[in-house]
This record gives sequence, C-alpha cells and structure tokens, in this order.
Amino acid sequence: MEIRYLGTGGAEGFPSIFCQCEACRKVRMLLGKNVKTRSCTLVDEVMIDLSPDIFSQCINSHVDLSEVNHLVFTHSHSDHLNTTEICFRLREMASVIQKKDKKVMEIYGNDAVRDGIMEIIAKDPHVDLTRMRFHRIQKFEPFRIGHLKFTPLKAYHKLDEEALIFVIEDGRSTLLYANDTGVFPEETLDFIEQQNIKFDVVSMDTCRGILDGDTHMGIRENVELREKLRRMHAVTPNTEYYLNHYSHMCGMIPQEYERLVGHEGFLLTYDGLSVTV
Ligand SMILES: [Zn+2]
Ligand SMILES: [Zn+2]
Ligand SMILES: [Zn+2]
Repeated sequence: MEIRYLGTGGAEGFPSIFCQCEACRKVRMLLGKNVKTRSCTLVDEVMIDLSPDIFSQCINSHVDLSEVNHLVFTHSHSDHLNTTEICFRLREMASVIQKKDKKVMEIYGNDAVRDGIMEIIAKDPHVDLTRMRFHRIQKFEPFRIGHLKFTPLKAYHKLDEEALIFVIEDGRSTLLYANDTGVFPEETLDFIEQQNIKFDVVSMDTCRGILDGDTHMGIRENVELREKLRRMHAVTPNTEYYLNHYSHMCGMIPQEYERLVGHEGFLLTYDGLSVTV
C-alpha cells in the first residue's frame, strides 16, 4: 500500500493566507516543509478528500488525477470537499477521459457530502451527471474499492453530520486514517477492539498541536490514543505513527513541532510525503 500525503495542513493552510500570527510570519520566511496545504491523501488509486489546493498538489507531487476515479470523503468541511474541481471532472469539455473504465467518477461519502456536491452541481449547466456515481457510506459498514477494503469509523468531528475516519486494508497491511477527529468515540474504540484490528500505520489528526483537543486532536490526545490502542493490542511494536492536519493554531511552526513530536516517536507528515507499507 502506498500512502501519498498531498496536503497535510489544517483548514486554513499554513501559513494561513490572511494571518499575521508569528508562526505564519515565520513560515512565510522559511517555506520548505513548513508550508502545509490543505489535507488530502492518495492511497494507491483512491483519493481521500479533495482539498482546495488539489490543482497545485497534483503538479507538485506529479499526480495525474485523470487516472483516479474513486474519491472517498471523510466529511463535508470545505477544506476536504472541493466541489469546484468535482464540477470540472464532470464536464466533458474540461476533462477528456479516454479510458472507458475511468469515465465515471465513483464518489463515496455521507449525506452531507452528497448534498454539498448536488447543491453545486445543480447550479452548473455544463455538468454531465452520467459521469458520476455516488455511494452513500456510513459508520461500521465496510465497502471495497478494487483491492482495498475501507471500513468507516465514527469520528468526533463536525457534529451535525456523520464525519468518518477509515480503516484501510489491502490484504497485507492495515492503515488507520484518522483525520479529522477529536478523541475517538467509545463506539469506534469498541469496534476496533471487537474486530481485533491490528494497524501497521496509524495516521492521526494533530490540528491542535500543544493546545487541548476539541473536535481535533493535539499531541496529548495523540499520546493517549496510542496508549489506548496499545492496551487493546490494536498496534504492534512495529506500528508507525504519523501526525497529520497540523495547523498554525498553537503557534509552533512545523519544524519545531516536528522535533517535539519526534521525542514521542511520532512523525509529522509534510506535503509530498510518501509512505509504503
Ligand atoms: Zn480539515
Ligand atoms: Zn497564523
Ligand atoms: Zn473538518
């Protein structure tokens, strides 16, 4: 399984474009790995979320999205659900897809994701709806995309809809893809334990940094979650931990935060990072 982090920042990106906080000022000077575009990730041939930065992410990471026809959404926040680009994908004139098996974009999401897409599509007279198929997904009901099995788990995030995180298995390795979310709901932890799932890679939300968690996690919640997973034997000594969706909120620039979380055995993701398991 190849996990390609195309964007690894919080909702407003880092540096946040209208922000004058010290961390954003520093990042504008330092650039490099400190720059974080909005979060989305390619797992083999499946895109998880489509960020507002997807155009430049594809250029920078040499990704050809015309080859990708499965889009899985975690929730409907605008840093994950880029409806503008979905409309371009559904326009014949904007996206010429020659391979017949790639013609239809298969989109997976909850009701709010479907409503968000349909609302924008309704205003676009050029969209060809036969180029899209929507699959409604819900917590604890697995679905398959090619060789990948996705099991949606309930997140603690955007509480007016069923925000989801995912267990992703390819038959050899298992990934927990967990952003956006705060501390996991009990039913999610129970499910992991009852299903006896063992993760090779755990990718966690760390939006809050050194601040207390809310509907996102910070370092403290990341450490606690690892402890819970250890106690229920859902991880092994070889499990790798990545922290993702980091924001400017706590005032530490990514290279400082990277050092801090490194002491805990975590790796802070950065745009363009590719992990093979
Ligand atoms: Zn987000
Ligand atoms: Zn800032
Ligand atoms: Zn969100």
